[in-house]
Amino acid sequence: MRGGFPEFRLGSVLATSFTATLTERQGDAVERIPTPQRLVDWLAVNGLAVDSCTTAQLGLARELRESIHAAATAAAIQDALPASAVQVINDRSVQGRAAAVLTPEGKRRWQLSSASRVEDALGVIAADAISIIAGERDGKLALCASPTCRAAFFDTSQSRTRKWCDMNTCGNRQKKARFTANQRKNSRPAELPES
Ligand SMILES: [Zn+2]
Repeated sequence: MRGGFPEFRLGSVLATSFTATLTERQGDAVERIPTPQRLVDWLAVNGLAVDSCTTAQLGLARELRESIHAAATAAAIQDALPASAVQVINDRSVQGRAAAVLTPEGKRRWQLSSASRVEDALGVIAADAISIIAGERDGKLALCASPTCRAAFFDTSQSRTRKWCDMNTCGNRQKKARFTANQRKNSRPAELPES
């Protein structure tokens, strides 16, 4: 917790870092951008700094987030993409007016059309989502093995066998749960019938 708000879960992929602002979707969901200011904070950490954000813009951001989640989940299980989600992703992408600029150090930086254009930042995120869902990047969409999570994540491991959206949280918890279950099984008296 920072300033009373849950910490961000940042990964190396912009679109799935964004969908990870809502975690434990299948359990006790944790909203990590509960206020417009927290979205401003998240965007700043991800190289998309804006001055301010309205409640309506936060609403747009969450709508985009859930649309990316829905489309990425469908892509991960090779299902048809939900039309409404595709529409939202495309609308955000089309309405964004951010430009990629090259810094003197050879890094890419996003330049928004104005400092209050949350829509431009959302356009960058939408375009990132399009590139992974369309299979344009090296990696594969998969669903987290944690039953309380099931987040769609982008697996860039060599073998494409990553199981969890995040090793430090879902991965660790699953390992601990399995360890506890094994301990229980092993300590069960031998004469009890298997149920
Ligand atoms: Zn997970």
